[in-house]
Amino acid sequence: MRTFFVETYGCQMNQHDSELIEGQLRRQGLEPAPAVGEADLVVLNTCSVRDKPVQKIISRIGALGRLNPAATIGICGCVAEQEAERLLDRSPAVGFVIGPGQTARIREAVRALTQGERPVLTGFDAESEHGFTTIFRKSETRGMVTVIEGCNEFCTFCIVPYTRGRESSRRLTEILDEIRDLASSGVREVELLGQTINAYRCPESGAGLATLLEAAAGVEGLLRVRFITSHPRHFGQDLIDVIAGHPKVFRYLHLPIQSGADPVLARMHRRYTRAEYLELVGRIRRAAPDINLSTDIIVGFPGETEDDFAATIDVLERVRFGQVFAFGFSPRPRTPAARYRPRVAEEVVSDRLQRLFAVTDRISRELNEELVGRVVEVLIDGDSRRDPTHWQGRGEDNRVVNFPKTGREAVGDVVEVAVERAGAHSLAGTISGGAVRLPVIAP
Ligand code: SF4
Repeated sequence: MRTFFVETYGCQMNQHDSELIEGQLRRQGLEPAPAVGEADLVVLNTCSVRDKPVQKIISRIGALGRLNPAATIGICGCVAEQEAERLLDRSPAVGFVIGPGQTARIREAVRALTQGERPVLTGFDAESEHGFTTIFRKSETRGMVTVIEGCNEFCTFCIVPYTRGRESSRRLTEILDEIRDLASSGVREVELLGQTINAYRCPESGAGLATLLEAAAGVEGLLRVRFITSHPRHFGQDLIDVIAGHPKVFRYLHLPIQSGADPVLARMHRRYTRAEYLELVGRIRRAAPDINLSTDIIVGFPGETEDDFAATIDVLERVRFGQVFAFGFSPRPRTPAARYRPRVAEEVVSDRLQRLFAVTDRISRELNEELVGRVVEVLIDGDSRRDPTHWQGRGEDNRVVNFPKTGREAVGDVVEVAVERAGAHSLAGTISGGAVRLPVIAP
C-alpha cells in the first residue's frame, strides 16, 4: 500500500480530522494520490448529522468498488462511530472503521490491515491519543485548531454527543503552543474549533474561552482569530467583552438558534428561550455593532406548527443574519426526537424551507448591498472559484470577496478592496490599496 486519498464530508471538525488523517498517513510513508481512482487506500471521513449524508456514504462505497476496485476503503468519522462493524458487511473492500474518538490510531489500523485484519476502532476514552502534533494543513493562510472535543448538551435531535462523545477540553498552554507554531509558519488566521466551544474550560487552570481567545489574539504574527460553534446558553459577558475589545477577533459569530418558537426550543432541549436569545444578540450588537451573525435552523422539527415557523421567520427578520444554514428535520438513530410525533409532512417542510430561503437570501443581499461603496480589508485565500484571473478572500466579518488580480499581490496578503457589487452570498470589487505582506515571525 503506497498511496492514499481522503474524501471529507460534513463540518469543520471533520475537515480538521482529515488534516490529522493525512498527517498520520504521510508519517507512515504513504503518498497522496492525485485522484481517488489511483489511490491504494481511500479514506471516507464521514458525517451523520443528517440521514442523507449517511445514504451518500453507503452509495459512495458501492461507487468506489466500480471506480477503483483494487482500493481498500477506510471509513472514519461519525458514520463509523454510528455503524461500526456493520460497515464491514457493506463491502469486502472496507478494510477498517475508525470513530472520531480514535482517529489518531489510523496508523495502527493501516498496520493491522497489512496483516490481513479488518480493525474496528470506536468509542472514547480520556487516554486516547489525539495526534494534534501530526496535522497536515493544506491552507497557507488559515489553520484550524481543536479547543474542545465532544458535546454534553444532548439536544434531542442531535447525534453528536453519541458519535463524538462527551466534552473534553485541551490545555490552554498546549493550544497556544500550536497557535504560535502556526503563526511562525506563516498562517495568518486561526480558527478555534469545538462543537460547543464556549463550554471550553482549561483542565489545568480553569480558564474559559474568553481568556483563551484574548491570549490567542495576542500571538505575534496572527492577523485574525475566529471560533466556532457557540451555544447561546454558554455565552458570557466576558466573551462579548473580548470580541468587542480585541481588533484581531473576527467580526463574525455563528450562533445557532435552531428555532424561533419556544415550544420547539423546549422540545429540542436547547435550554434557552427566544427572548433570551434575542436579548443575547442585543447585548452582542450593542458591544460590537459591526459583527456579522450567522445561524443554524431546523425546519419541520416534530410538532412544528405554522405559527412556530412564523415565529422563526420573525426572529430572522429581527436579527438579520448574514448567513443562515437551514435544513429539514432528519431523525437520527438513538436521539429522542427520532421518536417524537407528529412528524411534519415532507412537502410542508420543503415549502417552509423555500419560504425561509427567500427571506434569508433577501436579507443577506440587503446586508451585502450596504457595503457597496465601502472599502473592506481582505485576506487573500486563493484563486476565485469561477475565474482564475480573480482572487477570492474573506473580509474581517467573514464575507467572501472576489476581485481581479493585479500581479502585485499573493495568497496570504491583506488588501483593501473597494466593494462595487453585492450578491446574496458574496461581494465583488477592485483593489484600492497596495498589498500588505505581513512578516513571518521566527519560532
Ligand atoms: S449543542 Fe446540541 S446541536 Fe450542538 S453538537 Fe451539542 S447536542 Fe449537537
